Amino acid sequence: MIHEILPHRFNNQFIIATDIAEDDYILHYRENSLLLKTAGDGFEIPRKKDVSAIVNTKAGTFLFSLDEVRCFLIWEDPGTIDDRFAYTEMSFFRRLQPQEIAWVGIVGYQLRNWYLKNRFCGKCGSKTIAKQDERAIICPSCNSIVFPVIPPAIIVAIRSNDKILMAHNSNFKENWYSLVAGYVEIGESLEETVKREVKEEVGLDVKNIRYYKSQPWPFSGSMMIGFVAEADDTQPVCPDNIEITDANWFSRGNLPNHPINDSLGGEMIDLFEKGEL
Ligand SMILES: [Zn+2]
Repeated sequence: MIHEILPHRFNNQFIIATDIAEDDYILHYRENSLLLKTAGDGFEIPRKKDVSAIVNTKAGTFLFSLDEVRCFLIWEDPGTIDDRFAYTEMSFFRRLQPQEIAWVGIVGYQLRNWYLKNRFCGKCGSKTIAKQDERAIICPSCNSIVFPVIPPAIIVAIRSNDKILMAHNSNFKENWYSLVAGYVEIGESLEETVKREVKEEVGLDVKNIRYYKSQPWPFSGSMMIGFVAEADDTQPVCPDNIEITDANWFSRGNLPNHPINDSLGGEMIDLFEKGEL
């Protein structure tokens, strides 16, 4: 999966850091794109020494580290850039290599969006500031502290005998199918979310719900929590025709187009195909 970057190590421990070193990574986002340094046919995340001529690197927000290299978010836009650099869309990052660079780019994107959305206090409306000693934002007027919020969402591989249920979401491209997924609502357990989402989206009752694995998904800022469940395939499959426009049982060797195994859903579908789920 996309977050599995061994032997590289993503370290999200917060450190109190204000001085950016010459070799530290610089992350600057413009809308949904990240400033990258071109390197032959590929890309690198620029280091301070690469960009200090085009942007003010004195003021940065510490994000996390990749291996031993610290990563800083820079807010000032460099304006015009030359062909040593390129802004690359987040949608491209699922297949961007090397994978550890892609991972840093999308986790940084999640944190940058969180900082952006919390520039003003949700309680009193005052301008907020970054807390210096931990990854948090504080309101100097009412002292409210905001930590990053990570909404949990379930994704479930529904099985019946040798078949798996796959669904076409109205947002997907044509002939594209994946597993049933949805956000956890207030007041419910993860297992209750699985039952509710499956019932709402495809009309099935599921049983024997088992936890599989989780995956942080910075594109939406959520935490995907994977489950396997069973359903009786004599029940009618009834797509809700709002979020899900088609759903059906599929056999091994006969699966429709589906996500690659950079995602939790893709990995579960892959395992099913190999007879390991
Ligand atoms: Zn406030």
